Amino acid sequence: MAEQHDNNLTLQAVTQPIYECLRCAFCFDLSWLGPANLCPSYAWGAFESYGARGRIAIARALLEGELEYDESLIRRVFACTECRACAEHCFKYIDTVKIFAAMREDLAARGLIPPGLAAAADILTEKHNIYDKPHERRLSWLKDRSRVDRPASVAFFVGCTPAYVRRTLARDTYAVLAASGLRFTVLSDEWCCGHPFMAAGQRERAAEVMYHNVDALKALGVERVVFECPGCMRTFREDIPAVLGEPLPFEIVHVTEEIARQVEAGRLRFDVYQPGTVVTYHDPCTLGRGLGVYEAPRTIIEAMPGMRLAEMPRHGRDAYCCGAGSFVRYDYPDLTDLTGDGRLREAEATGAQVLLTACPACVTQFQYIRSQTETDVQVMDLISLVKRIARWR
Ligand code: SF4
Ligand code: SF4
Repeated sequence: MAEQHDNNLTLQAVTQPIYECLRCAFCFDLSWLGPANLCPSYAWGAFESYGARGRIAIARALLEGELEYDESLIRRVFACTECRACAEHCFKYIDTVKIFAAMREDLAARGLIPPGLAAAADILTEKHNIYDKPHERRLSWLKDRSRVDRPASVAFFVGCTPAYVRRTLARDTYAVLAASGLRFTVLSDEWCCGHPFMAAGQRERAAEVMYHNVDALKALGVERVVFECPGCMRTFREDIPAVLGEPLPFEIVHVTEEIARQVEAGRLRFDVYQPGTVVTYHDPCTLGRGLGVYEAPRTIIEAMPGMRLAEMPRHGRDAYCCGAGSFVRYDYPDLTDLTGDGRLREAEATGAQVLLTACPACVTQFQYIRSQTETDVQVMDLISLVKRIARWR
């Protein structure tokens, strides 16, 4: 192993996986299986340095002092949606995204963060959300305040995107959880989970918001936290224990898991949405590959009468990214658009009338792509569909 340079400590922490890479290319090129892309960053950037193998080679060169840190590195490191398709397909089971996170931290420590993401992180510090909205408006989607800050063993962590951008989804999720009979609380002083800080490589800033949310939930006696946003959920399950250095005192579940349990218990049935509707389901990268939740959404869809699920060729662990991961739209909008458009076309090709997903960021991305193109496919979050046709027993 070549000499390592003392000033890239975060990279040194992932030395072993960096040197384990065989350079076999399973992480970005599955062309021998068919024409479909695996890595959005490589499909857009068209150079190997945008795929996992190339990025790991860059990490190795930085470790060995063979590459200078300069502005040109920013694009190679941050133009990645952290969709985890590379990690899922890696021949050596390397946690590629862990290496990428270390690279982000390494660059951030040198002030090398792309400007859009850096500005979003600064807004987050000031407003506790990346949408530059007043913090005191965070719960303005909620009229009934009876559950707010009420001590309870279960909490609904709303997340910035439902709270500010997809308020109907926040209301729908709240209504579905309430109708299920769950006694839950909502925080009036919820802050962003810290995911954008992690994407920007700013671990210390992330720690501050993580402590805030964990302490607020603990103060209400919470033992289980329900999420609609997979990004928030993965931040809690993976990043908070890693950053704070202690296990979380909560069980972490996605709302689709909560609802699927109700379906399986026979407590929830559905009316027919529209007879003969064909739907397809987009696995959000963070919910699927990031958290392993593949079955719960399908359990719910398959319980809906008069509806047929037509899977896209790339689904489950092979699902293609929507293009919105890791906030790449701030700095690389053409990467986001190209990826989202490709995924919407794949949904169209199934013959589905409705593209369902279970992530506020994916819904926002597909709604935007849909507004820029001609398509008959509707986009809907699964929980909003549940809200419309649920019949509780
Ligand atoms: S599949 Fe894994 S081992 Fe092979 S090149 Fe990609 S990261 Fe390296
Ligand atoms: S995380 Fe996704 S976008 Fe990033 S290198 Fe891996 S496959 Fe490509």
